Amino acid sequence: MKILANDGIDPIGKQMLEDAGFFVETRNIPQDELPVKLQEYDAITVRSATKVRAALIDACPNLKLIGRGGVGVDNIDVDYAKLKGISVYNTPASSSLSVAELVFASLWGCVRFLPDSNRKMPVDGATKFNDLKKAYAKGVELRGKTLGIVGFGRIGREVAKIALGVGMDVIAYDLYEFIPNVEVILGGGIVVHAKVKVATLDDVIKQSDFITLHTPFIDKALFGATELAHTKKGVGLVNISRGGLIDELALIDALNSGQVSFAALDVFDNEPTPREEILKHPKVSLTPHIGAATNEAQERIGVELAGLIIEHFRH
Ligand code: NAD
Repeated sequence: MKILANDGIDPIGKQMLEDAGFFVETRNIPQDELPVKLQEYDAITVRSATKVRAALIDACPNLKLIGRGGVGVDNIDVDYAKLKGISVYNTPASSSLSVAELVFASLWGCVRFLPDSNRKMPVDGATKFNDLKKAYAKGVELRGKTLGIVGFGRIGREVAKIALGVGMDVIAYDLYEFIPNVEVILGGGIVVHAKVKVATLDDVIKQSDFITLHTPFIDKALFGATELAHTKKGVGLVNISRGGLIDELALIDALNSGQVSFAALDVFDNEPTPREEILKHPKVSLTPHIGAATNEAQERIGVELAGLIIEHFRH
């Protein structure tokens, strides 16, 4: 069995597959060459970069399995693959904590102006030091503020645990999921059970100091001009979920008017070439879709994916 790990795979996962007798090639074959080159393989693993669309599936009749290291399978035509008898696996739980930690890296960064200060200090440097000091004088603390979570699945819950540990009030809205109590693990192994306030989307919009989105993208923005107009003045937004969940043009207007004080974005409308106004906006914190990109998450993803592939071909 030959497996192409086209967007890479953690070495431990690769080793597990090789120990189980698979031949694993880690390559980065460009998308337009895949219809020919993937024909040699029985399975492909991808992250978010490689697309496995119907045309590629049609070109590769030997393909039996598609593995997605990560959560979102929007780069794979899953229904078409299944129709053709190809199994599709993802690793939904492995990266939740890493994504949740990036939410807080972004939030803490933004409330103390780190993205803008990192942009400006190297340029304006010593000459403007005191001006910049004044510009960034009104930072805020997270403790005691209300965090609104939209989408209370795996990542939303991890975010809630950290937020409760930090001392924030948490309100959460989910279209489908029951909102449970969460276990918050404090230092020294102390575990406390805490409550998350169940809210409507409207409550989250109106009551939150910061809002973080953790839903899939279905077909339209959850936050457009109307929703942004009804938030608290100066709300901070985080989207480490999927581009399109916040209408970027409406967001730019809201940032410019001060309705939104900052947006921390890891995902964009047009990846990998986000629009200039977003990339250059002083109130936007940018990361290039790296929510799951920690050593720990990548190792867990590789191990989980390898386990799923081994189990699949065992039967
Ligand atoms: P999940 O399926 O566990 O949770 C999603 C939750 O959203 C579910 O509880 C669902 O009921 C809820 N939901 C769906 N539509 C909704 C709506 N319209 N309004 C409110 N709630 C809604 O998924 P997850 O593992 O928590 O992942 C969440 C998102 O994060 C996904 O879009 C995933 O692609 C993204 N993600 C991004 C990165 C990154 O690198 N930036 C990494 C991992 C996951």
